Amino acid sequence: MAAENASTTEIVQGGSFLLTPIGQLPQFTPEDLSDDSKEFGRAARDFIEGEVLPRDEAIDKLDLPLTIELLRKAGEIGLLSIEIPEAYEGLELDKKSSLLVLEEMSKQGSFSVSYGACTGIGTLPIVYFGTEAQKKNYLPKLAAGELLAAYALTEAGSGSDAMGAKTTAVLDGDSWVLNGTKMWITNAGFADIFCTFAKVDGQHFSCFIIEKDDPGLSTGSEEHKLGIKGSSTRTLILENCRIPKDRLLGEIGKGHKIAFGILNIGRFKLGAGCIGGAKRVIEYTLKYTSERHQFNKPLNSFGLIQQKLADMATKIFVGEAINWRTIGYIDDALSQSSWSDPDAGAKKMQAIDEFSIEASIVKVWGSEALSWIADESVQCFGGYGFSAEYPPEKVYRDCRINRIFEGTNEINRLLIAGTLLKRAMKGELPMMQFGQQVAKEISNPPKAAAFTGPVARLKHGVELSKRQCMLASGLAVQVLGQKLVDNQEVMARMSNMMMEIYAMESAVVRAERMLESGHRWAEIARDFTELYVNEAWHRVHGDARMLCADVTDGEGLRHALAGIKAFAEFHPTSCARLRGRIASQLIQKGGYPVEII
Ligand SMILES: Cc1cc2nc3c(=O)[nH]c(=O)nc-3n(C[C@H](O)[C@H](O)[C@H](O)COP(=O)(O)OP(=O)(O)OC[C@H]3O[C@@H](n4cnc5c(N)ncnc54)[C@H](O)[C@@H]3O)c2cc1C
Repeated sequence: MAAENASTTEIVQGGSFLLTPIGQLPQFTPEDLSDDSKEFGRAARDFIEGEVLPRDEAIDKLDLPLTIELLRKAGEIGLLSIEIPEAYEGLELDKKSSLLVLEEMSKQGSFSVSYGACTGIGTLPIVYFGTEAQKKNYLPKLAAGELLAAYALTEAGSGSDAMGAKTTAVLDGDSWVLNGTKMWITNAGFADIFCTFAKVDGQHFSCFIIEKDDPGLSTGSEEHKLGIKGSSTRTLILENCRIPKDRLLGEIGKGHKIAFGILNIGRFKLGAGCIGGAKRVIEYTLKYTSERHQFNKPLNSFGLIQQKLADMATKIFVGEAINWRTIGYIDDALSQSSWSDPDAGAKKMQAIDEFSIEASIVKVWGSEALSWIADESVQCFGGYGFSAEYPPEKVYRDCRINRIFEGTNEINRLLIAGTLLKRAMKGELPMMQFGQQVAKEISNPPKAAAFTGPVARLKHGVELSKRQCMLASGLAVQVLGQKLVDNQEVMARMSNMMMEIYAMESAVVRAERMLESGHRWAEIARDFTELYVNEAWHRVHGDARMLCADVTDGEGLRHALAGIKAFAEFHPTSCARLRGRIASQLIQKGGYPVEII
């Protein structure tokens, strides 16, 4: 089946959002989704609501036969085969369809991790890097749920530093012999195949497909975890594990391309899934705060509870805008190559790599949004939020892992700014030119009147933010030069600004489209966006000023701050009023109103 959602022929460069005027890049929004895709999302919703959520407790008692049964059922209705090409009995849908499914799956933390490890990082290495024989052998069975997959990269001594792996592979006649122990492997308790990384002759980082019955393979006992207790996490022990020579995946010494390429997809999926999880949290939090009374009033009548509800919904709206924009770019880039091309896997992986900055933004932004939402949900429930009898306690624990796996949020922050700088140095992104333009504009900054449309003021705010980020980042490059990448706090500030700019811009463009098309929820979309931009603008402003102080002082600092001030003509509106309006809509609707399927 071909991709069914509208795609554009304009291929966007990853990271270019920072340097391009708002509205000039194409942007996919959830309001553009095709009916076919929505249909698929609804099937996933029926599955999660009908089959998974009613077994929430059993899943979280680590009932692995149940998880296996549910994964196989998901396979029967096509939910494991979305990203597998048709030639190997997959549905070959676009990534937008897989995102809709993922949003639904993410409503049960443990199951979504099992599902994600199986269909994402466990299966996709074979989709993108497998030989024809490997794809024919494994993909139809993975598509049907006859085989379940895992991904084994991490070791006890090498987590963030994945290339420091000690597991070895040595060729012995017609077999590879692997030795080593992989740590924290999701699905290890039941997976049939493991995409496993090892160093050939202790040197050349490579990937192998290992089957559970291969001699020399065993798994440790289940880890006792803080959350996602219903997902299987074990060590994978390889003791003279002998596998046929043709189980090498990709090329010897090119394992990093598989490990990091697949992690880019994994990061995107993880962050995007977090917004699906957040939708469940707001649902039960709205219900509870309408039912529980204190001082003879429902909790949701109090301003400080309304503030939390409004912020939860705002993060969901903005998160959706970020996710769908990014998946739009990825799908457009993927549609440039066909699976009938013998180099399709490599071309498609390259297309995904192009958006590694955006994938890291989705991961960090989404996981931190869900952590915040889950935490505030506990707060809304008060003491009951602290009790295992009520849903917030589990979600609070379950979501904590999202900031750790698929590259910790620290590592992803370093990647966001680091990749941008690398691309700018190579001349792939015109950062220098934009820096020169911004320097010239200090005496004549963009005026509010230059922006048009229903969210003109917010567009102005986004453009001012880009200039503040550029001035501060340019100063950091100028002062620290090559040493900048080692100055992690400065890099993180740059990344924080980039994330906020991407988030603001994605929401502003989405809201503008909704307003211009007379969308039913256009007014609340405007309020979400105004609320977010009001506060994010000030976070960028603060980060830009603090970044300058991190790299210079005295007259240099005064000069830099004066430059930033030139782009600071953006006045806040009342967040309290916006939150009050949003909260009353949420309470009236009894849920997050902007349904996308
Ligand atoms: C429940 C669970 C499931 C998992 N599933 C899988 C799986 O299926 N497959 C798999 O391969 N792995 C899996 N992992 C492993 C996971 O990806 C790693 O835990 C993660 O990458 C972090 O590695 P680490 O735990 O060794 O932490 P470390 O790398 O030791 O990091 C510890 C802290 O130091 C920080 N840090 C490390 N290096 C730097 C640096 N250069 N600069 C700044 N800060 C730094 C980190 O951000 C972190 O805060 C799983 C982990 C868990 C807990």
